[in-house]
Amino acid sequence: MREQLEQIRQQALDSIAATTSEELLNEIRVRFLGRKGELTSLMKGLGALSTEERPVIGQLVNSLKNELESIIDSALSDARNQKTAQKLASERIDVTLPGRRKMKGSKHPVTLVIEEVTEIFSHLGFSVAEGPEIEHDWYNFEALNFPPEHPARDMQDTFFVENSMLLRTHTSPVQIRAMLKQKPPVRIIAPGTVYRCDSDATHSPMFHQIEGLMVDSRVSFSDLKGILTIFTNQLFGQDTGVRLRPSFFPFTEPSAEVDIACVICGGSGCRVCKQSGWLEILGAGMVDPEVFRHVGYDPEIFSGFAFGMGIERIAMLKYGISDMRLLFENDVRFLRQF
Ligand SMILES: [Zn+2]
Repeated sequence: MREQLEQIRQQALDSIAATTSEELLNEIRVRFLGRKGELTSLMKGLGALSTEERPVIGQLVNSLKNELESIIDSALSDARNQKTAQKLASERIDVTLPGRRKMKGSKHPVTLVIEEVTEIFSHLGFSVAEGPEIEHDWYNFEALNFPPEHPARDMQDTFFVENSMLLRTHTSPVQIRAMLKQKPPVRIIAPGTVYRCDSDATHSPMFHQIEGLMVDSRVSFSDLKGILTIFTNQLFGQDTGVRLRPSFFPFTEPSAEVDIACVICGGSGCRVCKQSGWLEILGAGMVDPEVFRHVGYDPEIFSGFAFGMGIERIAMLKYGISDMRLLFENDVRFLRQF
């Protein structure tokens, strides 16, 4: 047994002396001292020894164990020091190299458009209103004159949450919330995120809208046209042509789609405007009396108009972006251009 111990000791010392690699040293530790290591299996043989010999050999095994433990530790720490020294020698800092410029962030085009549109309307006396993105069916549909089972609900593919809650499909519920909170006159603009079950080059399941609402005792359709003309001229340039086409929305009557003369071809016809010379940029109309009844306004006394537009669509036209998905991929090379 003593001879065996001396043999193991010699083997261990030889293998430790032969290497400076941390990995090999750890392997040596396992081979001699591990749970299935050579010393441990030797310990298991102690039972076969006589009662006199057992404690003596046991002590020898223990002291060899301690000795190897401390030799391996110090070899490991030498190996680590050597590695650090090598690293320091090879990675010297060259203080004469030119510095690396820090990149400056810029605002996202969607944010830029929201800020610009909000700015234009704030000069016209509109203030910003907000509402929740997880909305109750009543605010998103019913109060806006979409009764249950009404086919107009199919115009908007809705993400339902539960118990009549849904992800708002437009910013129009903010109109309802604003009117319930205050009596006329109302002039609000409501930018925000909206959600629809839709995704391709010109549709995204999450996008942004800006809603506008003006209610007072004598608001007419010509006020709507006047305000929208001022707005489009400020956003797209002074002589941008504007036209209104009859349309349908459940919450406005009469309703109109608003087009501007194509900002790409100036009206002569191109791929972007599908050769028509016009680009649709928003929907608008006079607030339906039914909506006023839902919020407790008397439609005999008050009238108003509402409009809504997609921010991404405006950003794409304004900056000449061909694919809406570019606005959500957040590729720095794209964003840096703004
Ligand atoms: Zn065009």
